[in-house]
Amino acid sequence: RCGFVAIVGRPNVGKSTLLNHILGQKLSITSRKPQTTRHQILGIKTLDDVQVVYVDTPGLHLKEVKAINRFMNKAASDALKGVDLVVFVVDRQKWTDDDELVLEKVKRARCPVVLAVNKTDRIQDKTSLLPYLSEVSTKMEFAHIVPISAEKGHNVDRLEEVVASFV
Ligand code: GDP
Ligand code: MG
Repeated sequence: RCGFVAIVGRPNVGKSTLLNHILGQKLSITSRKPQTTRHQILGIKTLDDVQVVYVDTPGLHLKEVKAINRFMNKAASDALKGVDLVVFVVDRQKWTDDDELVLEKVKRARCPVVLAVNKTDRIQDKTSLLPYLSEVSTKMEFAHIVPISAEKGHNVDRLEEVVASFV
């Protein structure tokens, strides 16, 4: 089996850190050049019988999202075509207006969306995350919400399990 997974989120939430952690040594290929007409392949990871292809998705970067919101068009809603799963990364500290803009795009996906709440290592008392988690759970119907620390690698294996279950 092979699945395409888009990692999306506003700048600085930890997307690159997460991808580096997931791909690590097991990185099969990386390329800065678009490999398909629609998506740029960032890396491939093989897990048991599943091959997960992480892609960068045009139309889901903040500048593009802002432009798209100004000129709502078909291309915009097509941004996630061909993707099997979206991993939407946010920071555990605060849901921002920019997260909200990305959310509007992600809501148009016809595939499951997993929310990764990153930087949990910055929290002393883990129960303080609960109000944030209940707030974000009302934003849309996420397939899963997974708190992680991409930097420390906390719970990233859990996120990978969830990803593998959808591809
Ligand atoms: P991107 O713009 O979404 O790709 O974010 P980056 O991966 O470049 O990370 C942005 C900043 O957040 C960098 O300084 C990272 O070191 C930091 N960062 C990323 N993940 C974590 C995390 O899990 N915990 C902490 N404390 N910092 C993180
Ligand atoms: Mg990055």
